[in-house]
This record gives sequence, C-alpha cells and structure tokens, in this order.
Amino acid sequence: MEQTYFRKGFGLKKDLRPIIDAEYQSAVVERIRSRGYTDVFGDITVRLAQEFGFCYGVDRAVDYAYETVHKFPEKKIYLVGEIIHNPHVNHRMTEMGIAFIYPQEDGGFDFSNVTADDVVLIPAFGVTLQDFDRLRAIGCILVDTTCGSVLHVWKRVDMYAKDGFTAVIHGKYTHEESRATASQVNKHENGTYIIVRDMDESKILCDYIAKRPGHLSRDAFVEHFRHKSTDGFDPDKHLEFIGVANQTTMLANESLAIGMKIHEAMVEAHDAEYAQAHYRSFGTICSATQERQDAVAEMMVDPPQVMLVIGGYNSSNTNHLAHMCQQHTRTFHIEDAACIDVETGTIRHKEDLDPHAPETVDEDWLPSGPFELGVTAGASTPNNKIGEALVRILQIRGVDFEL
Ligand code: SF4
Repeated sequence: MEQTYFRKGFGLKKDLRPIIDAEYQSAVVERIRSRGYTDVFGDITVRLAQEFGFCYGVDRAVDYAYETVHKFPEKKIYLVGEIIHNPHVNHRMTEMGIAFIYPQEDGGFDFSNVTADDVVLIPAFGVTLQDFDRLRAIGCILVDTTCGSVLHVWKRVDMYAKDGFTAVIHGKYTHEESRATASQVNKHENGTYIIVRDMDESKILCDYIAKRPGHLSRDAFVEHFRHKSTDGFDPDKHLEFIGVANQTTMLANESLAIGMKIHEAMVEAHDAEYAQAHYRSFGTICSATQERQDAVAEMMVDPPQVMLVIGGYNSSNTNHLAHMCQQHTRTFHIEDAACIDVETGTIRHKEDLDPHAPETVDEDWLPSGPFELGVTAGASTPNNKIGEALVRILQIRGVDFEL
C-alpha cells in the first residue's frame, strides 16, 4: 500500500540545507555569536541572549516544508494554519506555492477543498485529534511536523484521561497547540479537560476546589469555562482527579505555580493524603522555551538599557520573553525589522503581553550616549530577521561596520 503519512522527512535535508541557511541565516548574528554573544558597534554594545531564535521544533518544521515542496513539485500542497508563528516564514511558504487553510471563527478548519491527490502539512503545534482523523479519512498525503515536545505533552494528557484524571492545561484556549493538546482526552470515553490561561484564572479553579468564600457557583463556573473545557464539564465531578499539563511555550514559573496552587487547594479541601492520590503533574514546558527564558533571566541580572525582543505578536513564547524583560528594562517587542524605520528613527512595537494589544510608535527610544542593547527572539524568529533589525538600529545611529 502506498505510504501516505510521513513524519520523518524525505531524506532531502542535506541537499536543501544550503538553500534554507541562505534564506534564514544572518552574518551579523553569526559575528556576534562568534565573539561570545557580545559585540561592539560604534557606541552600541550589543548583547545577544545565549539562547534565542529558531528552536529544534521550528527548524524541523521548516525543513520538512521545504522537503515537501521539493518532493511533490506537481501536487497541490496545503498547510493547516501557520507553519510557525512568524509572518516572514509564512510568507515564504506562500511564495513556494503552499496554500494556507486558516482556522474558522470556532477554531475548526474547512478541509472541503482537499482531495486524496493533495499533500497536507501539519504544523509544529499539531492539529486536533478530530482534524487529524478528518484528514486521514480524505486519504491525502500527510506530512506531520508536530514537534516531539508537543507529542510528549499529548502522551501525558492521554495518560491522565486514561486514568480518569481531568487534564488541567495551562495555556490559551485559542492557541492551536492547546486545542490540539486538549483534544487528546477524546482518545478515551469520558476524557475531560479544562484550560486555564494564567494565575488569575487558575484562582477561580482553586477557589472552587477548596470551596473558599466567594467562589463561583456551579453554573457560573460552567459558564466561565464554557469554551475552555469539555462539553458537559461538571466541576463537582470533574475536579476530583486532576493532572496538570501546559502549552509548551508558557512561562515555566507560572505553570509550576499554578500546579502548586491546585495541589494546595486539594489539601485545603481534604488533606495531603487525598491530594497525593488525586493530583498529578509533569513539567511539560519544552526545553527550548525553558532555555530561552533562562537566557533572558540571566541577562536581566545585569539588564541592558534597551532590550529588543523580535518575534510574531501571536507567538506565545515571544510574548513571554518580552514580558520577562519588561520587568527589568525598557523593552521593545517588534514583529519584524520593518518595525524600525531608518528614515524617521522610530520604532513600532507592542507594549502589552496580549497578542492583540495595539502597537505604539516611539521616537526617542535610543539613549543619546553609549548604551547596551540586549537582543533576543522567539523560537519562530529566523536569524536573518534578527540581523535586519540590528542593522537598521546601527543605520539610525550612523554606525558603519564591516562583517
Ligand atoms: S517551542 Fe518547543 S514545543 Fe514548540 S516547536 Fe519549538 S521545541 Fe517544539
């Protein structure tokens, strides 16, 4: 039978590497890295975070997309959602002839145009169990780039559901990865999940578990989590056994703290023995996210005067990096090098953690004398976009440099 499901590439990586490197590498970034992650350009000392940019999952997804285009030059190739959350990389996918299937308002996808003759790329965040089954039923060729770290979370959630535990997922319910992770409970009859966005939302959950004064009524609880939990979720029944997991790109400390709060609420409602038998937790932040957050935390011990964070506004891990930096120094989260205007010397950036927060434009954003510029980028930002942003800042400053 003809193979229609691929998740290990097509053995073309070596041939395509030079093309991919040429498109996404940056000489400026390589120079700074080769000089110990700190380099001086005129009166600007640039400090690059020790870990930044493309993670192993994104590297792999981008490689597979290029391999797929070369493997099936005659076929129509679709991509479910975005390959990764970076506008530049997604634009390149379009230029290569890949057609995007964007999510509808309810987060579902319309596969009605896909035929058995087509190829469909599954992005690094994965797709829901239901979408995967629908694609398999069509009989198209599936190239699955779901990251191994995401699969690791799915295994945990699958296990929780199998053992009768509700998966409490720290993540954004609108994010593709969290939706795909939550759907894993459907592998088991009566599997349940609930998604909590942050510490504030987890408090609603904890107050209900511990029956603290002022906790939401059952109906208000159900209403609050209507779109963030399994259909028919009953907090009186489904918060008895809890397993905690998270979207791989959340703030590691917050995930940990949410897990501890839920455990505390169980102890408060019953006792430690009960909590031990009814609570499970596994750290499922991926190592790439963790390393990027650790590198920023290390830099913030002695923060630079200005911090530049580059990455898609809808990129969860980039937003978290920016949020970490904002606590310590003047931080500018830009989506792309184009946010820096060399002519006017201005920067267009997003100040808030919320992916939909409006952009603001700043004029006098660079210190007048010598200063340190810290730089990091989310896991979906290619080095060439980091390099372009840096070059624009040097141009504003009138700094000549040779590579
Ligand atoms: S951020 Fe982590 S989980 Fe997501 S694609 Fe990268 S390595 Fe995989």
